[in-house]
Amino acid sequence: MTILTKTYLLPVFTACLLLTAVSCKEDKTLPSCEGVTYEYEGVDGPEHWSELCVDYTDCGGKVQSPVDITGAVNDATLPNIPRTYAASATHIVNKGHTIQFNYDGGSTITVNGESYELLQFHTHTHSEHTVGGVSAPMEIHFVHKNAATGKLAVIGVFVEEGAQNAVLEHFVHHLPATLDAKYEAAETFSALDLMPADQSYFTYAGSLTTPPCSEIVTWIVMEHHIEASAAQIHDFEALEHENARPVQALEGRTIKHHKA
Ligand SMILES: [Zn+2]
Repeated sequence: MTILTKTYLLPVFTACLLLTAVSCKEDKTLPSCEGVTYEYEGVDGPEHWSELCVDYTDCGGKVQSPVDITGAVNDATLPNIPRTYAASATHIVNKGHTIQFNYDGGSTITVNGESYELLQFHTHTHSEHTVGGVSAPMEIHFVHKNAATGKLAVIGVFVEEGAQNAVLEHFVHHLPATLDAKYEAAETFSALDLMPADQSYFTYAGSLTTPPCSEIVTWIVMEHHIEASAAQIHDFEALEHENARPVQALEGRTIKHHKA
């Protein structure tokens, strides 16, 4: 093995030197992701995320999110997701592309017999998942992590335009306007109050929807939406702008449907 490697390496290396960039382009090494930023349009947009730097290559994978929810298969064996949510104080941070609410520890869900702790939720305007090709004006992602495996379970909730949302109304006048700015308050609330009462959901294996697009997510997209007023949705959209990754090909994956 060692001899073979040495024998073949030299001619390849020489060819590269002779033909320079033309023949060696396929061997190009991506830069470090240190200081690299991604965007939602243009040369750093979603179509190019996988080429931006060495840790973003998963963005070009086959187990990516979001997806269009269509052709879901009913699965009578799926349960309501057991949720043990405690109240949390308010910790809002402007992450640049999204407004994130960090959640106090100790709130968990159970998925496939494994426990995942709620770390944070954040918003996308418009929604990232679509249903039959139709998007909602907003989607909230509740990010839960299994500390032992590092895997994630993310609950997606569609927000449709309608009545003013009483929980969001506590926050919309305090959304931090600049990158890394924070708003902290002792006032508590429960994530449960931002989820629909009906526990029907769609589930599939997918990824983070932002770089590095790691394929470690069990997605649980609630079938039923919650409502917020047009003004409330606008307050989020004005800060995070367009931050929905386009839907990705299913690549043979099955979306399962739980009817509560
Ligand atoms: Zn998200």
